[in-house]
Amino acid sequence: MIQRKETHQVWVGSVPIGGDAPVSVQSMTSTPTHDVDTTVRQIRELAEAGCDIVRVAVPDRRDTQVLPAILDQSPVPIVADVHFHYERALEAVEAGVHKIRLNPGNIADRKRVDDVIAACRERGIPIRVGVNEGSVVERIDASVRTSQKEDLARGPAALVNLMLKTLEDYMRIFDESGFHDVVLSAKSIDATMAIDAYRAVSERFDLPLHLGVTHAGPPQTGRVRSIAALGSLLAMGIGDTIRISYASDPVDEVDDGKELLCSLGLRSRTEPELIACPTCGRIEIDLIKLVADVRRKLATIKTPVKVAVMGCVVNGPGEAEGADVAVFAGKGKGIIYVQGRQTRTVSEAEMLDALHEETVAFAARVERGESKLNATRVNIQPPDPLPRKDGTIPLPVSKEG
Ligand code: SF4
Repeated sequence: MIQRKETHQVWVGSVPIGGDAPVSVQSMTSTPTHDVDTTVRQIRELAEAGCDIVRVAVPDRRDTQVLPAILDQSPVPIVADVHFHYERALEAVEAGVHKIRLNPGNIADRKRVDDVIAACRERGIPIRVGVNEGSVVERIDASVRTSQKEDLARGPAALVNLMLKTLEDYMRIFDESGFHDVVLSAKSIDATMAIDAYRAVSERFDLPLHLGVTHAGPPQTGRVRSIAALGSLLAMGIGDTIRISYASDPVDEVDDGKELLCSLGLRSRTEPELIACPTCGRIEIDLIKLVADVRRKLATIKTPVKVAVMGCVVNGPGEAEGADVAVFAGKGKGIIYVQGRQTRTVSEAEMLDALHEETVAFAARVERGESKLNATRVNIQPPDPLPRKDGTIPLPVSKEG
């Protein structure tokens, strides 16, 4: 069980971040925010996928102007992502957003940052203050930049120190204003750097942390990079809200974020969990297609039934231990078990529908209180063999007899 570090709690609309709140999943729309219908459609898709908080970019006045219309139709709290223009932050606060994402380093005038803080205080909304490895190097003062670059050449620890020092500088502004509803982030492109940076920030501050890896790349690498960093940090108890980000449909990010939290026991499942064997030389059906079909078919079930799809009856039962509903496929046939009890033997063509029917029926019994999830282990001793066409049984023969 993961012991989470307790941090100061802030509220983003109806969603708490930090304190004893569950780790929330965030994402960001990829639509032009001023296109209200398209943006609202994507926000709803993200919310439907399990996203708790959605961020929208507000680069222009036309984006902040439509925020009231977006807020009216959004099922989840909305964060305004502000980069360079403090006016956008003030307009977004005025529009009623639930949180601002601000980089004080991009807003040169301290008075303007103070104005944004004052507006957020008045509305009772938090601010996320973030640094990433690309944003911490001094841009204006060339001599400072040269000295920083010399320092950074000494190794990754120098970059972590610079990120931490930048956050400390920012936080002085917020402390002097007596504004404490701040969420911090310290992102890097590199997974190990992100881990080191967030660990340092977590040791230094008791503020809630927004975890993320920046510019993680395409799905194939970005997903792994994000999950390597965020999973490591979450396992250490660090992190209060997460965004997995890579170049893809943001709904995919939400699916990954939810699965990461469920895998670490930081979020309860609300939908079926699918276990599938990795396949091996014993496989006798097209299991990869079957698993994809089962996954699609189970998507409408809103009970966290554990379903196993195993490629054979040799090792399948042991590997499916703990499943509520399982199918063990053999040559052209599958045996279905529901909480350890064999219910049906079906042909390969019937397997998908039969498994779905058994899962729907079991979920309904759970909902009626007649069955309990995870109550009975799959316990098949020995597995019922499915004879091959030639009558032989596909079980391994022990040399010891
Ligand atoms: S369940 Fe059977 S087919 Fe699947 S990986 Fe295990 S031994 Fe191989």
